[in-house]
Amino acid sequence: MSGASGFAGVLGWPLEFTLSPAIHNAAFRATGIDWNYMAFPVPPDRLGEAVAGLRALGAMGANVTMPHKSAVVGHLDDLSGDARSIGAVNTIQRVGDRLIGHNTDVDGFAEFLIGDAGVEVAGRTAAVLGAGGAARAVLRALAAMGVADIHVVARDPAKAERLAELVPAGLASVTPEGAGASVIGAAELVVNATPLGMRGEDAAPGAVFRPGQCVIDLVYWPPQTPLLERARGAGAQAWGGLGMLVRQAAASFTIWTGQDPPLEVMSAVALHGLRARGKQPQ
Ligand code: NAP
Repeated sequence: MSGASGFAGVLGWPLEFTLSPAIHNAAFRATGIDWNYMAFPVPPDRLGEAVAGLRALGAMGANVTMPHKSAVVGHLDDLSGDARSIGAVNTIQRVGDRLIGHNTDVDGFAEFLIGDAGVEVAGRTAAVLGAGGAARAVLRALAAMGVADIHVVARDPAKAERLAELVPAGLASVTPEGAGASVIGAAELVVNATPLGMRGEDAAPGAVFRPGQCVIDLVYWPPQTPLLERARGAGAQAWGGLGMLVRQAAASFTIWTGQDPPLEVMSAVALHGLRARGKQPQ
């Protein structure tokens, strides 16, 4: 690092485990960009100060993760289309003195589906578990990709109804969590957009999976969640959240640098980071 080096980072709380510094620092090194990426644990009541700090210190950009994705909107100067419609930001771009909020989870999910999983969703039925920020991004992406029918399964029906309003009328309907198993079992594409699975919970208790189904868990740690284990065991195709994590990071990289992301490097570092975590005492 020198006085001329740029910096970027991720704001989250808590930020005990994040792959973003490893992924982005590897991308900067691979492309010869003299920037460094750091993790900034920022408690919710200090988010405004942290964003002002990015501005004052001339950060090249930043990522925003839980629980700040919605709250950060009020501290920015403008929003891109996806960030505005979803009401959540995961990427901050600095343009001169202005800070612009983006949401690369939408493109990240779509690019993961098409580029990594090779899943064709047009005309298919989907069940989306959860009604938070990631679910909003998934719904927007699925609608843009021409999915025929979306069932939102969530514990808060009012929140799920608001989520369904993000896509054209009639495309999404709401199923209360308790009645979710049959909808999940029937859907061709299932996406878990809740944190269930991070601590060994089953995100879809009672749902029966089958061959031909495609199940995606946005949780990336642990790599094998109970949902993925059961789906794979039943012959369904199943993916964890690492691919989307890399794709949304790649989209952030392009927003900040204007360059094509070194995807292979970013994927390899992310995978290495997960494996290293697996070897640590939990
Ligand atoms: P969020 O905005 O907090 O939303 C979480 C959703 O899950 C909410 O609908 C919440 O319900 C629901 N939920 C939480 N605990 C639950 C429980 N015990 N039972 C039932 N529902 C529960 O979080 P997010 O940003 O959407 O993230 C969700 C997950 O996706 C996280 O695990 C995150 O790490 C992952 N994610 C992964 C990527 C990736 O690139 N792989 C990207 C984004 C997010 P309420 O609304 O009722 O609280």
